[in-house]
Amino acid sequence: MIAPEEAWERIMAEVAPLPPRRFALNEVTGRVLAEDVRADADHPPFAASTVDGWAVVAEDESPRRRILDREGWAGEMPTVTVVPGTAARVMTGAPIPPGADAVVMIEDSVVEGEFVRLTRAVRSGENIRPAGSDLAAGELVLAAGTVLGPGEIGLLATVGQSEVWAYPSPRVAVLSTGDEVVEPWETPGPAQIRDSNRYALMAAIRGAGGEPISLGIVPDQPEMLRKKMELALDQADVLITSGGVSEGDRDHIGPLLAELGTVHFNRVRQKPGKPLTFATIRGKPCFALPGNPVSALVSFELYVRPALRRMAGHTRLRRPERPVLLRHPVRPDPVRTEFVRAVVEQEGNQWWARTTGAQASSRLLSMLGANALLRVPPGPVLPEGASVTAILIAWPEDR
Ligand code: AMP
Ligand code: MG
Repeated sequence: MIAPEEAWERIMAEVAPLPPRRFALNEVTGRVLAEDVRADADHPPFAASTVDGWAVVAEDESPRRRILDREGWAGEMPTVTVVPGTAARVMTGAPIPPGADAVVMIEDSVVEGEFVRLTRAVRSGENIRPAGSDLAAGELVLAAGTVLGPGEIGLLATVGQSEVWAYPSPRVAVLSTGDEVVEPWETPGPAQIRDSNRYALMAAIRGAGGEPISLGIVPDQPEMLRKKMELALDQADVLITSGGVSEGDRDHIGPLLAELGTVHFNRVRQKPGKPLTFATIRGKPCFALPGNPVSALVSFELYVRPALRRMAGHTRLRRPERPVLLRHPVRPDPVRTEFVRAVVEQEGNQWWARTTGAQASSRLLSMLGANALLRVPPGPVLPEGASVTAILIAWPEDR
């Protein structure tokens, strides 16, 4: 049995980013950029007005100025040259006509027939966005490794990158195992239960940026399991199974993984999720999760999610952590580190945690509303007010 930190290390030693691919801009949300992107040109490419107003010569002291042009639209090149004693209308985003060095807002002017009178002093450069003031040609705009959100995608469009190199989403095959497991739409027989793991895990895979592939339910029969696992690895980058990974006579997953590939560990000193097993087959990561629904989801959160993020090119793999105070006593496990589902709330400068009630690994209700896992090492009972580390699996305001 190895420590949770050691399990993390062994997984990370085996998991690498997938080869980058070309993606169109409408396919890159949340992806990690795999190339440096530079500005193709100055932005804006021309000096532009930032307001609707009059392009003028700032030093000009004429009380009224003759109007040269009443329509300086964005998208049109100016046809006039501004000299002292004149003014030309410009709209927001329109190029500044030659000769002008300032724009006076329309609100600061009065039109008197063929003339315009300014009601405020003018400063040179006012209301003009110089060429290259947002981005200079050749400037590094986005570095490889950047996570692409709305601002980043807008920048890619600005510099003319309609396709970029980015990391693909790992395809993750999910397989439920167990003679007793049936589909959610079936009525379970007297000794059967419904498959919750595959659906919960597919949601977790999507949430982690992966693409789930559902492989159904396979009974505890080695030949059927082997076939399905090999089929899974033909189409997926990662295999996740649930169930059948303990020490029972019908727990075939461990021996099968050893036969098909290399098992890197098969017990972790943690609660829930002790039987968690990690292997590689043909270089592809395989996570055999315990069948209990909470064990499966907590193991996914702690180990599979960071692995999927690394495959998708992320470098920040872990959730944020912070110290929190317990609202009530917690009794640690005598030998294993426990990951306790909890609700964390901020009160002034202090962060508080209460657990989600009974922590049985079969009780999915213990996941509901949980925005944190408290890392509780073995030791004596922790009193109310004791400080523990919370792994924030969701921000408090999300709940
Ligand atoms: P196992 O890891 O196969 O020993 O299963 C541990 C517990 O999890 C047993 O009570 C199983 O019935 C239950 N279980 C296994 N697979 C699933 C599943 N796909 N959905 C819900 N519960 C499951
Ligand atoms: Mg089983």
